[in-house]
Amino acid sequence: MINLEKTKEHLEARLIELTEKASEIDQALRDPGSADWEEHATESEGDEVLEDMGKAVVDEITQINTALQRIEIGTYGECTRCGETIDEKRLKALPFTANCLDCAREAEA
Ligand SMILES: [Zn+2]
Repeated sequence: MINLEKTKEHLEARLIELTEKASEIDQALRDPGSADWEEHATESEGDEVLEDMGKAVVDEITQINTALQRIEIGTYGECTRCGETIDEKRLKALPFTANCLDCAREAEA
């Protein structure tokens, strides 16, 4: 049986971390940066990398928020696709996951 309190704490801590990261990325994107950035093509490539990172962070924030809601309403640990209980090992490795391994594989395929 998964410890919901602990999972919740873990998710909330991760959420704070990610929120900080998101605002750092956001600032880095806004910041014209260390002088003459306009002259450097590499700088805009750097921005693209930052934007991708930003997207990944926002995605994870969304997933964590959903997981926290699921803890609240008592559906945490159930696969949103097939309704099966998600393997505990999987939940420990990916606490914000909403799908069991089989469904995650299907979604990726
Ligand atoms: Zn499933």
